[in-house]
Amino acid sequence: MSRPLLMIPGPIEISPSVQTAFGVAPPSHVSPACIAAFGASLAHMRTVWGASEDAQPVILAGSGTLAMDFAVANLVDAGDRVVVVNTGYFSDRIGEMALRRGAVVEHVRAEVGRAPLQDEILSAVEQLRPTHVFATHVDTSTGVRVDAQAICSIAAQVGAMTVFDGVCATAGERFNMAEWGADVYLTASQKAIGLPPGLGLLVMSERAVARRSTLRTPPPLYLDAAQWLPIMRAYEAQKPSYFATPSTNLVLALATGLKELLTEGMDGVVTRHQKAAQAMRAAWSQLGLEHLGPTSFAANTLSALRYPAGVDANLVASIAQHGAIVAGGLHPACKAEYFRVGHMGWVTTQPDDLVATVRAVELGLRDHGYEAQGAEAAFRTAWEG
Ligand code: PMP
Repeated sequence: MSRPLLMIPGPIEISPSVQTAFGVAPPSHVSPACIAAFGASLAHMRTVWGASEDAQPVILAGSGTLAMDFAVANLVDAGDRVVVVNTGYFSDRIGEMALRRGAVVEHVRAEVGRAPLQDEILSAVEQLRPTHVFATHVDTSTGVRVDAQAICSIAAQVGAMTVFDGVCATAGERFNMAEWGADVYLTASQKAIGLPPGLGLLVMSERAVARRSTLRTPPPLYLDAAQWLPIMRAYEAQKPSYFATPSTNLVLALATGLKELLTEGMDGVVTRHQKAAQAMRAAWSQLGLEHLGPTSFAANTLSALRYPAGVDANLVASIAQHGAIVAGGLHPACKAEYFRVGHMGWVTTQPDDLVATVRAVELGLRDHGYEAQGAEAAFRTAWEG
């Protein structure tokens, strides 16, 4: 590839067919092509999310933060009690959103790079008896994945609704919305779903949809499920409809991208991400790089790696010079101590691009006087094994 690979934890490299679908002249939001793509995308989302037929998918023009605000504004009212299973920067963000709706919010935190223990979550839930439990499936600031299924079981003990921020997880990590009984699973287009940025995507359970009619404080108009759900239902019935203009090119790209995932099958897609993560970790280990926390918490979709002794954040620019754009740290407590490499979406079908990335990290490290070699061989052995 003549340009550097985009290997940050979103936006990411996208598949050629998604790029082609995106790159057409903008269609009208009520054109047959857009209606067909919108309707198909909503139906595909249920399968990608592992959701039941009565769950409601929603496609919004906006980023992941908008999808978070949408979920919170339609589920949480003043006086509600929210437990946030906090694994970093984005857990703080959703907690702040709940506070702004007037909820009482309690964070269950862990050391940076770890997730809270199930016993700790359970005891917070038993004490606060929350109406809602929030968690970030994979926190992009730390690379930590939580056990979403276990959190659903704990929340179910007190009948609390669950909201999972899957922005850095959906389609890269296993998630079975119906089987686990989750109420909202949300994401953004620029992550493992494999599109350019610009869509907030979520699926709501029947119970989550019903909550809107009992809210005392309605959400801001653009965030209001009562405005949007009739539009989603119309699109799924292949009928034109309008509340606010959707991002039409992204909707075309979404239909193509989701179809691509479903052709492979979600088990295959998640297994591919797992395999890529294991092979990347084999390369990091060969290079002597340490993860921010124990690898038992490490996500499929990104690696958060500590700078080795004597190397600092200038490493990120050196890696870019060797052909891969990676990201610096994000967690406020230690952002200068680590960097992040995304490995999600279409690029995980391209082992040569993943090899180019581990090579770029190796060469960047060498520029900083750190002895490093063998990343490619370690990657290929793990990938093939
Ligand atoms: N949650 C997580 C886990 C994220 O990784 C991000 C983006 N990096 C967001 C929420 C916010 O998404 P956006 O930047 O698209 O608003």
